[in-house]
Amino acid sequence: MPAPQPFTATADVVHYIQGERSAGVSQRSQPVFNPTTGEAPRRVLLAEAADVNAAVASAQAAFPGWAATPPIRRARVLNAFLALLNEHRDELAAMITAEHGKVFTDAQGEVMRGIDIVEFACGIPQLLKGDYTEQVSTGIDNWTMRQALGVVAGITPFNFPCMVPMWMFPVAIACGNSFILKPSERDPSPSLFMAELLKQAGLPDGVFNVVQGDKLAVDTLLAHPDVKAVSFVGSTPIANYIYETGAHHGKRVQALGGAKNHMVVLPDADVEQTVDALIGAAYGSAGERCMAISVALFVGDEIADVIVPKVAERARQLKIKNGMELDAEMGPIVTAAARDRIEGYIATGVAEGAELVVDGRGYSVPGFEGGFFTGGTLFDRVTPAMRIYKEEIFGPVLSCVRVKTFAEAVELVNAHEFGNGVACYTRDGNVAREFARQIQVGMVGINVPIPVPMAWHGFGGWKKSLFGDMHAYGEEGVRFYTKQKSVMQRWPESTAKGAEFVMPTAK
Ligand code: NAD
Repeated sequence: MPAPQPFTATADVVHYIQGERSAGVSQRSQPVFNPTTGEAPRRVLLAEAADVNAAVASAQAAFPGWAATPPIRRARVLNAFLALLNEHRDELAAMITAEHGKVFTDAQGEVMRGIDIVEFACGIPQLLKGDYTEQVSTGIDNWTMRQALGVVAGITPFNFPCMVPMWMFPVAIACGNSFILKPSERDPSPSLFMAELLKQAGLPDGVFNVVQGDKLAVDTLLAHPDVKAVSFVGSTPIANYIYETGAHHGKRVQALGGAKNHMVVLPDADVEQTVDALIGAAYGSAGERCMAISVALFVGDEIADVIVPKVAERARQLKIKNGMELDAEMGPIVTAAARDRIEGYIATGVAEGAELVVDGRGYSVPGFEGGFFTGGTLFDRVTPAMRIYKEEIFGPVLSCVRVKTFAEAVELVNAHEFGNGVACYTRDGNVAREFARQIQVGMVGINVPIPVPMAWHGFGGWKKSLFGDMHAYGEEGVRFYTKQKSVMQRWPESTAKGAEFVMPTAK
């Protein structure tokens, strides 16, 4: 594989409205860092309410024409977008590494998982097919169809600047909606690149707009009467806020929140596979994944005593470096503040009495001393009362917890306030089956550490990991972005004479 080229854009990151880049009336901006160097080569504009209103007006004007476009023609635009994404996927991946910090190969994986959703959305004619019942009463037929909502918005987190927006907009657009993306202000460039690829693919102006911004942009979207639905992915307190505020304004909302994902390790688990899985799932993307494993829950001291030292050895050897180096396993943390918050949690864990087996604090990469690096951290003998167990750290910190029985493990996972992902490592089919049945978590992996569902299955956690009742993408995504209409028809030839005053029944 040829060495990837780093993304070197220097211009300010602006909005994308009515098919073109626009600075709008924004006066505020904030730096966009390269977490590897700690430098901020560009700034992102922060929208004023007028910028959001301009985006909504553009999307609203584009909606009727796009909604009336036959689904197969909408799918052809997505097909063209798919081809462009495939052509430019390494550029997108390099852009992600430059602003997020995750290693390039991981960023390639992120783009690929976004592409999966576009491929799914290309099948929209089949997905939008309604159903039809002939002769529900003599001479009367009844059918259902699903129609687009109008202008819908997506508010997305920093940790997947390409994939998470693609959980939303390909499906929303395929269904005939127009879309406004409010990406994370920490890594905003991929949103503009995707907007330009959509235009190149033939998407009419106004169907996809981007507003860069912060709380002001989000609040304007939440209160705007022309925004019919909001998809959100981010931390739990904000997800809760978006859900309540959006619902207050009469919108449909799906708000995906934070996580604390456990890997339950049974005594019969394959040791080497479990170690590999824990290392990748806890430290991959520096633990900044909503599906990262942050708790290893061992059933019995015996298996814990075998696995913990092996994980510790591997955690100490992690290749932590500039993510553009192809052998890098872990890059920096997204911002200095996030790195400091993570290291603060490590101090809390020590103060709480957890056993610090590997301490990642104060990690420095030669040549990148200004970068926001921290090493992989491993705690053993963490207890459920500790803050490092209860709260989402969102960094490369793995907490090991020991219980005596399978039932205790299930009880502990089920008692946690988050319920995004979970994994179970065992060779016993019946244990695995019972685990999948009993566990109160939305996405379950049996010997699969990060069970992110495929494009046609839909993504979503339970409990405080999702507010709302529809998961992202898959068939639930199609349902979220459409409303059902039922039509009954009959023709004069089959209509009986005379007014009817009783509730109509099948005749
Ligand atoms: P975040 O909640 O800080 O930000 C998410 C979005 O909300 C951003 O676009 C941001 O600009 C906006 N926002 C932030 N504060 C706001 C406020 N006060 N009012 C209105 N809008 C606001 O999340 P983040 O730090 O970007 O991302 C990390 C979080 O996202 C973690 O908690 C992670 O678990 C979660 N996440 C969850 C999933 C999932 O599928 N459940 C997926 C990815 C990330």
